[in-house]
Amino acid sequence: MQTVTLNNGVTMPILGFGVYQIPADRTEQAVTDALAAGYRLLDTAAAYGNEEAVGRAVRNSGIPREELFVTTKLWVQDAPAQDNTRRALEASLAKLGLDHVDLYLMHQPFGDVYGQWRAMEASNREGLARAIGVANFHPDRLLDLIINNETVPQVNQIETHPFFQRGPDHALMREHGVQHQAWGGFAEGRNDLFTHPVLGGVGKAHGKSVAQAVLRWLIQRDIVTIPKSVDPGRMAQNIDVFDFDLTDEQMVQIAGLDTGKTLFFDHHDPEMVAWLGKRRLDG
Ligand code: NAP
Repeated sequence: MQTVTLNNGVTMPILGFGVYQIPADRTEQAVTDALAAGYRLLDTAAAYGNEEAVGRAVRNSGIPREELFVTTKLWVQDAPAQDNTRRALEASLAKLGLDHVDLYLMHQPFGDVYGQWRAMEASNREGLARAIGVANFHPDRLLDLIINNETVPQVNQIETHPFFQRGPDHALMREHGVQHQAWGGFAEGRNDLFTHPVLGGVGKAHGKSVAQAVLRWLIQRDIVTIPKSVDPGRMAQNIDVFDFDLTDEQMVQIAGLDTGKTLFFDHHDPEMVAWLGKRRLDG
């Protein structure tokens, strides 16, 4: 598996498996199937409610821990953020049945972001998280976090797909050594992505599917991607993207699909800020 090296020297597979919206009672099987298909990077979150199932699949796989790269995410914490962030990480580790995660991400740029970040830095120093990063940070928030803290986030996981390509975000992250990771690489199928004629044409030219063309496009932009599927056939298809290259012309064709707008939600929208910022996880 091709890897990227994060700004603290940790290596991370460039392609992994996301488990958002997989119900807890289906997650163990999905992760077991994904590991059997060859995925080694798993992306979960406290907010997904399926960390325990991910942990069971990891344990039962028999795959040595050091061969796996497990990411989970911190949900927005009440003050005092530093204590609560530490407790949240300990709770995630207990659910996963692990003594450390490979990447711990702040899931949303809300709440006492600086308190949360300092607690994450401490957890990183103690080895509870080999790498730390953020998610859903727009360039302004990311830059502010970088300027005012010791640790430059290793990763920023943001919505990225052919209809929202994040060019300016990508450039800023590259400038500061933050690894760009895509969520919703398929836009969850919105905008008829899987039957899009341009993407279909690019895939067909290589004997590949739309999904494979999109993943290849992300990988060639040096973006870590974590497609979700509950279907073993699609899992196998989605990891089979290392035997072809998109041409410069095909990269330009896909670049032409960018709308520069989210297909999900805008983290600058006050209604979303209120909803996400006030939401607390049960237990
Ligand atoms: P996604 O990967 O863009 O799309 C998943 C959808 O595509 C599912 O409906 C899946 O259906 C379908 N699909 C997968 N492979 C396919 C293929 N080869 N052909 C046709 N359809 C296919 O969506 P996502 O789950 O939102 O994003 C990926 C991961 O990013 C998540 O699982 C999560 O780990 C992470 N994420 C993070 C955030 C954040 O705020 N940080 C937000 C959203 C997501 P089937 O399952 O039926 O195959």
